[in-house]
Amino acid sequence: MDELIENGACVFCGQVIAGDAACACAAAVAERKKQEAADRAHSEIDELFRGDGCDADLLEYLHAGASMIEGGAAVKITVDVSGTVQALLYEKKGAVYVRRTYKQVRDARIAD
Ligand SMILES: [Zn+2]
Repeated sequence: MDELIENGACVFCGQVIAGDAACACAAAVAERKKQEAADRAHSEIDELFRGDGCDADLLEYLHAGASMIEGGAAVKITVDVSGTVQALLYEKKGAVYVRRTYKQVRDARIAD
């Protein structure tokens, strides 16, 4: 059941919707796209960070961060998952994006 339909009518434009159909009004289409992008961002968080030095608490934190961005409470959140892995959650054109950065650092001491 489409959650954008309440009592058989679109929550945005009020048009009565039959059966399992979805309303095609601009607001309903935009909201569905936003929800799909959010779902993809959450799947991506699991795929990119599960394991790999990211424990269950930290994974939960990343999901909470993505939800904050979805809700408009933040526009960008950066988390150092480990010394070399960084998670960046950000908003772009109303959708949530996830980026995993792997830093490779090599230090050498040059002796005289
Ligand atoms: Zn509608």
